[in-house]
Amino acid sequence: MEISDIIIAGDTPGVEWRLPVFRFKGTKPEAPRTYIQAALHANELPGTALLHFLLEKLRQADAEGAILGDITVIPQANPIGSAQSHFGELQGRFDLGSRTNFNRDFPLISLGERDGLLEDLDRYSAADRLKRQLLHVALGAELVLDLHCDDEGLQYAYIDEAFWPEATDLAAALDMKAVFLSDGESSAFEEAVAHAWKNEDEGRKKTTLPGRLSVTVELRGTRDVCPELARKDAEGVWQFLLARGVVAGARPDLPVFAGKAVPLDNIEMIRAPQAGAILFHRDIGESVKAGDLLATILANPGTPDGALGVRAPQDGLIVTRVSTRFARRRSDLMKIACAEPSRAERKPGTLEA
Ligand SMILES: [Zn+2]
Repeated sequence: MEISDIIIAGDTPGVEWRLPVFRFKGTKPEAPRTYIQAALHANELPGTALLHFLLEKLRQADAEGAILGDITVIPQANPIGSAQSHFGELQGRFDLGSRTNFNRDFPLISLGERDGLLEDLDRYSAADRLKRQLLHVALGAELVLDLHCDDEGLQYAYIDEAFWPEATDLAAALDMKAVFLSDGESSAFEEAVAHAWKNEDEGRKKTTLPGRLSVTVELRGTRDVCPELARKDAEGVWQFLLARGVVAGARPDLPVFAGKAVPLDNIEMIRAPQAGAILFHRDIGESVKAGDLLATILANPGTPDGALGVRAPQDGLIVTRVSTRFARRRSDLMKIACAEPSRAERKPGTLEA
């Protein structure tokens, strides 16, 4: 194992950022190369905890000569975001300087343009340098896992349709309850990686990418950071690495993925009709029927008709819920995975800003 630092010059005098990168050299050139990062959204730490335990297993495997394909791991991918607290509260999702989401606006290039990512880095802000460095490392691999989490959530993932159903092994290994099949139309990290692969051959865009995978894994909610879950998830990723022949060992007998796999169009984004305190009636993991009461919003507390009911538009599984108990008008309350497309309008790309 080799540890080196990516160094990012800050945007102000006297500041620079360092990200430790862990590299394991594989012994089998034809085995897939793997890249895993966590905490690109700096306040989402289940992945960092997972990688702490996975790295323990990888160090041991390395000592035993059991690493077949090269593996690169960045357990804390966003030191810029980690440092940005606002009145004592870690923000993590948006860069306070540029107001951009740390997981959007990745360069959409073809694989052949990879080396250009690191040219003339002086032209870019620290956040953009970080994005270019991370994408550059990731494009040296065939299997790319970007570890995130939701606010309150089940275990689920965003997976481009180009990798489905081959990626059911990862969904099963990580005991996912749902997979959101994305359309490849955003500039999130995972989709920038897939974009580069799809456009590898000039003039011919690939629609399937066998043997490759780029995925955003949502490891439950921001508060689901504990040794038990981190070890369980590290074991899940280990099983996936065994299944794909990245590490040596018996191929695991993975369970069949029993969760829901639904296109983004079938996700009902439940929004608050008015501002007010949120009283949830239903929790993540529950299946609901059309018309079920999901939440009450206390729009005018104390008045006879001051409470508004929010109901399920169709049958589905509650995959996520916000942790705040105050809603602004039209703010998100839940994501529900459904069998039919939502009637609400959705722009191509990601569900959230
Ligand atoms: Zn995230």
